[in-house]
Amino acid sequence: MSAIRVDLFSDTKTRPSAAMRAVMAAAEVGDERAGEDPSVNALEARGAALLGKEAALYLPSGTMCNEIALAVHCRPGEAVLCEAGAHIVGFEAGGAAALAGVMLEPIAGTRGMFSATQLRAQLRADNLQAPLQRLVSVEHTTNLGGGAIWPLHELRAVAEAAHAANLATHMDGARLFNAVVASGVSAADFAQGYDSVWIDFSKGLGAPGGALLAGTRTFVRDARRWQLRIGGAMRQSGIIAAACSFALDQHLPLLAQDHARARRLADGIAQLPGVRIDAATVETNLVYFEITAPHWDAARLAAATLAHGVRLCPMGPRRVRAVTHLDVDDAGIELALAVLGEVLTGPPR
Ligand SMILES: *Cc1c(COP(=O)(O)O)cnc(C)c1O
Repeated sequence: MSAIRVDLFSDTKTRPSAAMRAVMAAAEVGDERAGEDPSVNALEARGAALLGKEAALYLPSGTMCNEIALAVHCRPGEAVLCEAGAHIVGFEAGGAAALAGVMLEPIAGTRGMFSATQLRAQLRADNLQAPLQRLVSVEHTTNLGGGAIWPLHELRAVAEAAHAANLATHMDGARLFNAVVASGVSAADFAQGYDSVWIDFSKGLGAPGGALLAGTRTFVRDARRWQLRIGGAMRQSGIIAAACSFALDQHLPLLAQDHARARRLADGIAQLPGVRIDAATVETNLVYFEITAPHWDAARLAAATLAHGVRLCPMGPRRVRAVTHLDVDDAGIELALAVLGEVLTGPPR
């Protein structure tokens, strides 16, 4: 395998810069689990304000935010409505069932989103034989849905439909800030109407780890109990929290560059033979395309580009994902397009 020259596999592949590492080394720290880490406490306060919620809790990962939120909102045996391609369905090792004990009721949406009308069609009256529907979860931006940005009015209509039926609402905001930067709508406005929401620092924001789960004070207190229960409380984690604060200060505006590069990549891919892409749907940093050439499939195409130093992510038999992030520059995009062009026009491997 040749050295990786541009890594488009995921926006989790960023490495902390020297400036970020310097901030980490200098961070004031304490015992997080006892509420004594000033860097964590400051990040939680800042995150709660950014998200327009009463309180926030610093957790090691976005997966833990989702799993704890499901457990706080629901009792075992209850049901969560979400889009069929949601991260909680296919990418959290069955945690929804194993930890919260909930059923997932998938909605077949479009680009990872669904409408309030689609949600209402799936709501049912209280029925002793069916699982009690307790929570509606949305993903923003959508991951398998191609980094799509929910229209604000649809997010609000979904939340209103859920609350009207006495269901709680949760937002998986792993890439919420991509939506914020691309649309100009604030995180608090997007999260309005959602009883819980979280943001990830280890995706486009480029920190080495950590996520913030926000909601009411009561919700966050219950979430802290779950954090302790499943071993998610850390000690001098201000070292990573400082990297997250640095990311909010320095990296947040740079997401716009990731989006421009994703668009350039999508437009370039649209010119290539043997693949199909709807470049107009690329709104943020996720670029998905389908392989139409019969002699290629996703795994073999990714292997062939990797041999030239370009790493892509096969996401299905013929579906490929390329993700832009802090460690991908303009030259990396041009290299990826050149290699893809060479591979697709050459003989199959
Ligand atoms: C990455 C991701 C998660 C999980 O976040 P981690 O910090 O990797 O655990 C959850 N939801 C979505 C949509 C994601 O893309």
